[in-house]
Amino acid sequence: MIEIRMFPARDDNYGLLVHDPLSGATASIDAPEEDAICDALEETGWRLTDLFVTHHHYDHVEAVPALKRRFGARVTASARDRGRVPEVDGVVEDGEHFHLGTVPVEVIGVPGHTLGHVAYRIEDSVFVGDTLFSLGCGRLFEGSPGQMWESLCRLRALPPETKVWCGHEYTEANGRFAVTIDPDNADLAARVAEVRDLRLDGRPTLPTTIGREAATNPFLRADRPEVKAALGMSGRSDVDVFAEIRARKDRF
Ligand code: ZN
Ligand code: FE
Repeated sequence: MIEIRMFPARDDNYGLLVHDPLSGATASIDAPEEDAICDALEETGWRLTDLFVTHHHYDHVEAVPALKRRFGARVTASARDRGRVPEVDGVVEDGEHFHLGTVPVEVIGVPGHTLGHVAYRIEDSVFVGDTLFSLGCGRLFEGSPGQMWESLCRLRALPPETKVWCGHEYTEANGRFAVTIDPDNADLAARVAEVRDLRLDGRPTLPTTIGREAATNPFLRADRPEVKAALGMSGRSDVDVFAEIRARKDRF
């Protein structure tokens, strides 16, 4: 079984280390901040062997060159991001499987936030970068609403107990928007209250789970009749409703 260490990095990013105790292999999911990642490595005693990059944005790749120099870590990124993620050693595509030490890793292509964005699924966890957030989703910088909706549906189809590890702590702000879209959702109201308490205590709201997000995240609920009705969009396509929710969030 893998061990996972999550820690804050930069302003609101999360650093994530994934460790295979059998082989000693350790991957950093993205590379948001060299010092934060090195501190986490020191505290755990793990040696960095790999960097799994979800997408090319600077807050996710900033420390790639430094960590590679320091540890000789191998950099894995989406084939579409070759040339825009620094110092890539190996590229992966949707559906591909590879290993972290002895542990199988599945690549899920999730275009939308960027066209090259990938998620890494390892055991009962999925590392989703900036595609899915708790109670939110990434902005559409490159992909279309249709692409992002399909990517989110693929994540939603994972087993409900799957742990979701996101690239940022955005949950509280996302919750303020989510209740405007899905005001009568009791599960959402309960999650918003829980998130408020966690943040008052200075604790992370992650990981979340696929099942919880399917019940509370308005971006995963664009196909629900009650959400369409609340937006005055009954009978409209799932993608149209998703696009409307995303557009409202952009203006929120
Ligand atoms: Zn991003
Ligand atoms: Fe980001």
